[in-house]
Amino acid sequence: MKKHTPSTSTTQLAFGQKPRIPWVSKWRSVHLSLPEKASVAVVGGGPAGSFFAIRLMRRARERGKEVEVVIFERKQEVCFYRPAPFSSWEGCNYCAGGLSPRLVEALRNEGLEIPEEVIESRASEIIVHADWKSIPLAVPEGRELLSVFRGSRPRERAMRYVNFDTWLLNLAIEQGARVITAEVVSIRYSDQGNPVVSYRSPDKSEENAAVPDESAIRLSGITTSTESTREFDFAVVASGVNRRPGMDVRSDPLLATLGQMMPRFRPPKVRRAVIVEMTDLNEQLRVIEGELHFIQYGSKELHVEMASVMPKRGWITTAILGKSVDQAEPSSLLKIVEKFLELPHIRRLIPYRSKLVPRCCCNPNMTVGAAKHPFGNRIALTGDLAIARLYKDGLYSAFLTSSALADCVLDCGIDERSLRRKFGKVVRQMEADNRYGRWIFRLSRLMLGHPTLSRVLYLAVIMERMTTPRERHRLAPVLWGVASGDASYRASLVRMLHPSSIWQILTGGVFVTIRDVLTEHIFGLDWTGIPRYMTGVPVERVEETRRALFAVQGLEPPERAPDVESMFSIRIRAGKQAVLRQLGAFGDPERQYLKPRLLKIRRLKGKPNEVGTVIRYDVPLARLHFSVALEKVEPERYLLYRIVEGLGEGGILAFMLDEFRPGVSLLTIYVGFDFPRGRGMGRIGWALARWLFPDFAHHVVWNHSLCQIRRLAELDEG
Ligand SMILES: Cc1cc2nc3c(=O)[nH]c(=O)nc-3n(C[C@H](O)[C@H](O)[C@H](O)COP(=O)(O)OP(=O)(O)OC[C@H]3O[C@@H](n4cnc5c(N)ncnc54)[C@H](O)[C@@H]3O)c2cc1C
Repeated sequence: MKKHTPSTSTTQLAFGQKPRIPWVSKWRSVHLSLPEKASVAVVGGGPAGSFFAIRLMRRARERGKEVEVVIFERKQEVCFYRPAPFSSWEGCNYCAGGLSPRLVEALRNEGLEIPEEVIESRASEIIVHADWKSIPLAVPEGRELLSVFRGSRPRERAMRYVNFDTWLLNLAIEQGARVITAEVVSIRYSDQGNPVVSYRSPDKSEENAAVPDESAIRLSGITTSTESTREFDFAVVASGVNRRPGMDVRSDPLLATLGQMMPRFRPPKVRRAVIVEMTDLNEQLRVIEGELHFIQYGSKELHVEMASVMPKRGWITTAILGKSVDQAEPSSLLKIVEKFLELPHIRRLIPYRSKLVPRCCCNPNMTVGAAKHPFGNRIALTGDLAIARLYKDGLYSAFLTSSALADCVLDCGIDERSLRRKFGKVVRQMEADNRYGRWIFRLSRLMLGHPTLSRVLYLAVIMERMTTPRERHRLAPVLWGVASGDASYRASLVRMLHPSSIWQILTGGVFVTIRDVLTEHIFGLDWTGIPRYMTGVPVERVEETRRALFAVQGLEPPERAPDVESMFSIRIRAGKQAVLRQLGAFGDPERQYLKPRLLKIRRLKGKPNEVGTVIRYDVPLARLHFSVALEKVEPERYLLYRIVEGLGEGGILAFMLDEFRPGVSLLTIYVGFDFPRGRGMGRIGWALARWLFPDFAHHVVWNHSLCQIRRLAELDEG
């Protein structure tokens, strides 16, 4: 072990200022390998530091090489899964805690299975918010999108010591790493050209001294000295960009000392974010469990470029980036959160009865660029301090950079040239991909936040879903790749700008938008005050829903689809009774939905939701009418109306209710009928009727009504 006399001299140079280090030129061109029984310092016990340590020690063992790894972690609250009586002064790693499918897969391939108790939620879908309507994207089969807490904040969380970073650090310890809870204040070269780490251990407070669990003290290796130094064969700096949340990376003293060792090093570009952990006093969050929300726009008052809302059991983690955050004073962070929660698209995602209370909130940096030359002889930077994927997947980036660094250290060497060639390649590749990312986010922000463009995009995606089997989808996978981080930005941009995607947006999006807007105009449908939700049924569900519908009647579905067949469904965050109360208003003069201009709908006889009730539709302009009679009711499941006279006689209108998840109902509406064939003028008349009231008109009218029904049922329940 090479011990050095403690030194506190950390002459500060600005980045770009060349230090005088006599031996640097002498050593620059020399090839250096990790020696036998090498000692490696890892500054920072966050994911990047732990990933590096785990990989290095595993691979070294495979090669029969002995390596000593010492991780320095400044957080004192590293208590390895066991609640300790000493309180923390800091216990968070300032992150939303989304684990991308690529990271989950990569960890599994490394044999690192995330324990169930660390997983806070498994997302079943990402909801991409767009001004017109949000687009839910189901997590594809075989992929996993998880959320975790990175640290022991918020304090009120039960089992707060069980978290992702602690789990990883534990794994590093299991592999043989030693953790010292101390803050590294500087790194410099010794006269032999080895990195010398100076670190400050926390004073043993009385509280700390009272820790009953001896192993916690042994593992953490706390010493009573205030500052120590130690020389290593190689140093990895994985201290992230938030030694203090939101610190100025260009004037950070530790980074300045790195600038002296690596004169061409420049820290990465960072951007401030707001992150807030909220709890719901009314415990309503279970209705959004499994959802992960991705937002790319705010309002004129609140400039949001990127945000995520992640429910985690009784908690909800929200991260926000944008101009409003860039310019915010720390004192106004909660105001920003308040304004964010008031945005119409955020209001519609939070359950009506929720009462969200922030428990902790801070203003950390997010890496949005690449560091320049994050390596020198016997030293390299990894994780956020080197580079991160733009706005996404920082943990996967930490895994990639740290794994590449560990491999490079063992296989290629620890001199600057070897590090630049092998490890630097990974950083450069990520940097190049981020350039595509910038274009993707510019384009998607423009589309998602614009009232008309977002409608075009939404309709293009939904038309694709309603008409094309999932494996042939083109647009949804692009959105999924961008929102989940499951594809490279380059691949996503290429798919986004592919001529077939553009063609699909033009036909499925532009054409259908024009058609729907005109139809809404004709029927006088006004969206003011009505939140909009997806109502289209994917093509895979049509057959299954049709079968279920006919099975209730004890029949096989007909071989031929009727002339008009439409199916729409909507999720409602309310119990079935609240939805049925709304369906009971069908035909009532006081109902608040299904009131299109040109159509008169009224109940002729019977009572709400009772067999025998007859509801008549009149189309005065075309002198058409038809009536539907409630033929069958299955309590809390099914209402079947039959067309008993007029246009479409014998056809059906059915309402089906399912439980989507606890507290959320799925209402599906099925309309199916044939136009009478007629003869001569009659035939022409029916052809005209069909032309006047085509399939899509049903969709437009019911889409509006379903969104109203959802709002009313949720208000009723609330
Ligand atoms: C608001 C926000 C939300 C995010 N959400 C996500 C997300 O949902 N999913 C995702 O994949 N990524 C997300 N990220 C990115 C992710 O947090 C980072 O990419 C990731 O934390 C990088 O890991 P790291 O180990 O490099 O750095 P860090 O996680 O910052 O870890 C650095 C560690 O070093 C320690 N340390 C610092 N200085 C010293 C020192 N001088 N001495 C000793 N120890 C020190 C720190 O205490 C810390 O434990 C988010 C980032 C932000 C800002």
